[in-house]
Amino acid sequence: MYQRIGFLYKDYIYKKITVVFDDTFYLNLAIEQAILGVKNKQGGPFGAVIIRNDKIIAQSNNMVLVNKDPTAHAEIVAIRAACNVLGHHQLTDCIIYASCEPCPMCMGAIYWARPAKLFYACTRFEASEAGFDDSFIYDEIALKPEYRALISGQLNIDGATAPFEYWAKWGDKNLY
Ligand code: ZN
Repeated sequence: MYQRIGFLYKDYIYKKITVVFDDTFYLNLAIEQAILGVKNKQGGPFGAVIIRNDKIIAQSNNMVLVNKDPTAHAEIVAIRAACNVLGHHQLTDCIIYASCEPCPMCMGAIYWARPAKLFYACTRFEASEAGFDDSFIYDEIALKPEYRALISGQLNIDGATAPFEYWAKWGDKNLY
């Protein structure tokens, strides 16, 4: 059984404690990060760790409150940091570990980042029981726009597709 012994990765290095760096270890680290964020009153109880070639390249907790940013979920903050480390907008060969099943926003960001794998500890339903109703957004997205709680819809205007025409001419499709 994994023993929760510290809060940060450096503890494992400095204390020279022998640990197995497997999925369980990284998931536990994401959980530790989530708890740390709550202790520091930075945001909700969520954490994420991103590794590449068995090395941690980024980790974060939810920073929504401290950053006053509704998009500063642990996964998003960690993805931005990891991309910064790699100097690239895709997380090729990376594995993302999240303390909880990602919300739809993070799930979208994860698909865009294109990591090799994603693992999470608890589910969206457990998050919902704790008062974080990601399930609501999942349900909303599945609905046709006219049935959603958010008033939304397409407005038909001339020139709406002009950005795509410019993209076809000038866009850098190799890099995207
Ligand atoms: Zn999220």
